[in-house]
Amino acid sequence: MSKRPISIDELLKDDTTVPTYISRSKRIKETTTEPQQQKLPLPKSQSSTISNTTISNTTKFKSQRNDTNLNLEPKIRHHSYEPRTKRNKFQFDWDESEDTSKGFDSNYLINDEEDDDEKLKDPLLKDRSIGHWTNKSLEQMTNRDWRIFNEDYGIIIKNTNNTKSSIPNPIRSWKESKINPKMIEILTESGFQNPTPIQRSSIPVAIEHKDVIGIAETGSGKTLAFLIPIFNYLLSIDSNFLKYEKIKNENLILILAPTRELALQIQKQAEIFCKKLNFNIISIIGGHKYQDTIDEIEKNGCDIIVGTPGRLIDSIEKKIFELNKCYYIVMDEADRMIDMGFEKDLTKIYEYLPTNNQLVNSIDSKIFGIKNKITMMYTATITPIITKLTNTYLIDPIHITIGGAGEALDSIDQKFELINDSANLEQIKISKLIKIIQSHNYKNPQSLIIIFANFKDIVDQISEELNLKNFKTTTIHGSKSQELRETSLQQFKNHETPILVATDVAARGIDVPNVSLVINYQMPKDFQEYIHRIGRTGRAGNFGESFSFIVEIDDKEIYLPLKKFLKKGDKKLPDWLYRYHQ
Ligand code: AMP
Repeated sequence: MSKRPISIDELLKDDTTVPTYISRSKRIKETTTEPQQQKLPLPKSQSSTISNTTISNTTKFKSQRNDTNLNLEPKIRHHSYEPRTKRNKFQFDWDESEDTSKGFDSNYLINDEEDDDEKLKDPLLKDRSIGHWTNKSLEQMTNRDWRIFNEDYGIIIKNTNNTKSSIPNPIRSWKESKINPKMIEILTESGFQNPTPIQRSSIPVAIEHKDVIGIAETGSGKTLAFLIPIFNYLLSIDSNFLKYEKIKNENLILILAPTRELALQIQKQAEIFCKKLNFNIISIIGGHKYQDTIDEIEKNGCDIIVGTPGRLIDSIEKKIFELNKCYYIVMDEADRMIDMGFEKDLTKIYEYLPTNNQLVNSIDSKIFGIKNKITMMYTATITPIITKLTNTYLIDPIHITIGGAGEALDSIDQKFELINDSANLEQIKISKLIKIIQSHNYKNPQSLIIIFANFKDIVDQISEELNLKNFKTTTIHGSKSQELRETSLQQFKNHETPILVATDVAARGIDVPNVSLVINYQMPKDFQEYIHRIGRTGRAGNFGESFSFIVEIDDKEIYLPLKKFLKKGDKKLPDWLYRYHQ
């Protein structure tokens, strides 16, 4: 077929089927006569709306910057042509000062002067465009808007069949959500102005009484992600039942956590709401006296129990509390509970819970407004055992992953030093450690530092060495009594002892603001633990640093996962790791 140019008339006809070809002389003639009207290419998102409109090629978009109602009406204007011989290119007959199309963005139209107070608080809501979801009411949100919303917040949400059906939409703001207004008041009073991504996505699911598996980074706000639906549920329960019928030691909610510290931290966060809403939360963890727990339940009752699996089983067997009316269960850091050998305990606890049959065949279903037990499970990773647990205990759970979970944490600058194994390894490490702390403190005088080691003895040793150099340190490890561990954590949080030396007991879930440096004096043997350790810094929108000593032969097994982890997160590899090939 001849490759000759196509007539412009033919191209512009809507019903063009077979193009015709024209000679050069005819084309020149055409350019010197009054032009035909033609179609203007439109931004992809608008083309469907006005696809049948014919407009002049001089048409331009009016500025949309201050225009809330996107005007899609094309403006028709004509221009006059001069013969081609007089010029080299097309010239339009408009005045430059009228060019309101400058700054036009083909995807979105900027409307940044419209930000109200609420938008300014949330960086994403400070966004940009009239067509974008941020400028739409809830009713105007299309499936495409929800998809962009999820992308904006890094939310990946699926149901068990990998489809989107029956997944409630995430929360755009507290006030638009179905959260009880009393809760919203407490949240905003407490400074939680906007939900975090895991809260945006998992709260509506749990509020609709569906099971949730949440995979989110440490520090992502997952505690409130399960506490908010819990209080919403408690507030929805028949008040007569709560007032007159509830037996004092029958708790309604059970939260399982791997460590005592995490359980206490959950309790502390829940107490903000308990105090204002008149509920009671009790922690059941090793190190506390049974009698104290009994007295506390006797005095104040227990709507919510948070505890570690072993101690919970002991307490259930001692009938300190009963699970007959407990239809709401949270497993926090489920992967860690499995790592710590709690799988059998979890199974046992589930056996003590009432069955779904009990629920539907009794008045309970009416009192609690639910048709099956609700389980929310949070984990950093999905392992085969987690999948097994999920299949056994959860019903058609909604899977929610927040972008970057389990990947290199963007807010942390990770540094490494490779050290050769030698007879005086510990002295070398201690003197390097001191230099790192001194230089960090110089730059960040108010900062908190956590140093991790794998063994209690090493933790004590590091602490002693640092104390000798006048650094104020405290320690947490498994050989310390619960009371001492709590005191140490408190002293650290209060900046009384701004350096905490700890084993992995402190690695998971512990949320202390202002930790700006995490040092791995010894690398953990399990690489996942590395992610959890460094996750103690760079939390809630802050930046942090981590520094890890790698001993050349000892730590060989983490080279590969570390390399993959850093590469996946687009982080710079240290030379020795870059050169490492298995
Ligand atoms: P978590 O991942 O639950 O340990 O929470 C990490 C930190 O984020 C805690 O200090 C929370 O108080 C804080 N946090 C949780 N939710 C929000 C929110 N919606 N807005 C601001 N901070 C939050």
